[in-house]
Amino acid sequence: MREWAKTIDDDGFYGYCEKGGENQYIYDKYVCGLVDIYEFMDCPEALEILGRITEYMERKCIDGADTTLDHEWYTVAENLYRAYLLSGEQRYFDFAKRFEYTDYWNAFAQEKDVFGILPPPEKREGFHAYSHVNTFSSAAMAYAATGEQSYLDTVVKAYDWLKETQLYATGGYGPEENLVVPDGLPDSLLEIKRNASDVDLRFHFETSCGSWAGFKMSKYLMRFTGQAHYGDWIERLIYNGVGALTEMNDYGMIMYGSNYSVFGGQKSRSTVWFCCQGSILQNLGDYSSLIYFKDAANLYVNLFLPSRVTWQRPEGTVVLEQQTGFPEANSVRLRIDSPKPATFGLRFRVPQWTEGNIAVTINGAPCKVVTIAGEWATIEREWHPGDEVRLSFDMTVRGEPLPGYLSPVAVMSGPVVLAKASVRPGSPGGVPAEGPLRYPADWLDIHGEVTINRSRQLHYDQELRPFYDMRSGEFYQLYHTRHGEQSFYPDAFDYTGEWTAEDHCRSSVSEGATCTIQFEGGAICLEGLRGEDGGQAEIQIDGERIGVMDQFGYTRARMPRYDQSTVPFRWSKDNLPAGVHTLTVTVQGSSCSDSSSCDIRITGAKVYTARKY
Ligand SMILES: [Zn+2]
Repeated sequence: MREWAKTIDDDGFYGYCEKGGENQYIYDKYVCGLVDIYEFMDCPEALEILGRITEYMERKCIDGADTTLDHEWYTVAENLYRAYLLSGEQRYFDFAKRFEYTDYWNAFAQEKDVFGILPPPEKREGFHAYSHVNTFSSAAMAYAATGEQSYLDTVVKAYDWLKETQLYATGGYGPEENLVVPDGLPDSLLEIKRNASDVDLRFHFETSCGSWAGFKMSKYLMRFTGQAHYGDWIERLIYNGVGALTEMNDYGMIMYGSNYSVFGGQKSRSTVWFCCQGSILQNLGDYSSLIYFKDAANLYVNLFLPSRVTWQRPEGTVVLEQQTGFPEANSVRLRIDSPKPATFGLRFRVPQWTEGNIAVTINGAPCKVVTIAGEWATIEREWHPGDEVRLSFDMTVRGEPLPGYLSPVAVMSGPVVLAKASVRPGSPGGVPAEGPLRYPADWLDIHGEVTINRSRQLHYDQELRPFYDMRSGEFYQLYHTRHGEQSFYPDAFDYTGEWTAEDHCRSSVSEGATCTIQFEGGAICLEGLRGEDGGQAEIQIDGERIGVMDQFGYTRARMPRYDQSTVPFRWSKDNLPAGVHTLTVTVQGSSCSDSSSCDIRITGAKVYTARKY
């Protein structure tokens, strides 16, 4: 910091690229680093330097000609609010206000479709994924600085939205660095996406920066709400996000993106000294602030990692040591290493993947503890030096489809995503899963409930291994098509009333028009297209009304590498009894108030065998 500070001019100019239009982008990186040094290294000099470069930016952005907001400006507020809260200097609060992303944040607080804030599609635009997640940390710090509830509402609702619509099983998000339109997530794994520049989709997650943004957002949510379930995202990113990177090479090249396609991928290094090289260090620096939390009466264990924490309390010091090989072992030892007995609540996160099944012993004796998935479990008592709590997890391999869909499916053991690859001699498989992970065709026969396609994709010389264990250049497959998939096109449906046929699609605005498909299986996904003219239709299965579907959706997301102006629609029903079923769609001639018409568009269906077979 001191050496770099010598390069700052007397007027505070610090040598960013003036013509590149990235003034605020680079300022943001410096503010973050200086506030970190000020806070964590107790170094007042960092605040003095921050004051000098900020004075320059204030002159430029407020008084000067350069008042435009540029590259990733909407992530600047987080660290300025931190500077304000740490230093008490009003100037940082005032400057932070300038970088609030009000339209975007409010779309979440008010539960509106965020793609509606994009301009009409003549202009190429979308949401750059990492920075549009990182901006929620700015909203979180705006809440910390002002106490205004709408900021916290933004972050809470944005988290739910990310979990429901954007996150892969790894915790990663953002194919080609884009947030995806409604129902767009399955397509990102299935098709080779082409657009104006005619290139294939290269990766699904900007891994290092994206993990860092997820860590911070989850950490703020845990601090402000006290809820445990936000820790699940951190856990997934630790093992399958930044933890699944290969190491940097001598040239400074790293694995920038992770590929999750059902057609397979490889880990490879690309960029030299980019954003992600820096955020790897930020990720590592964050680990120590993600494992434990505290309040006046409780010590919280968020992550199951070998570690030691010292908690200074007015009543005396508490020391806890965690010994574990998790997730390659299925148990965790929490040992009290305090100098004196102490009464407090020891709370540990019950991950959602456990479904609440955790066996707990205290000093070797089984202990009844309420373990509800997604919540904290609490053991409150007087703890003595040497007391030991042991947690044991069920790591049985399971299939996890994309949230809300039937397929593709990821294979998981605990929080770890397993990928399929050729058998590596001597590899033990890595995780303590029940049943053999080598030769997954055999394993699938044992666990008939997991539904990955056995006929097309499994070979005798393959095994499932943690994604983090895949080496650079090794070929793997992370997502799998659900077993027994059959595809149907629009001509497989029977139609009544007025329908128009166009480009692999049938559409209708005519109230009472129907389309019907008969299928044999246990699950169906009806496929269509959303649009700004999308309407509503009723769905019946075997003559029984199941629900109403709505095909409205904004068609404005067009980024150069990932055009999402064609917005897919999916409606799924699982767990039907095995056998022949009839699905009927009846056009309602109605729509939501934002729609310009009431179009229903059908492009086909996918049918799968029943879950138990
Ligand atoms: Zn990056």
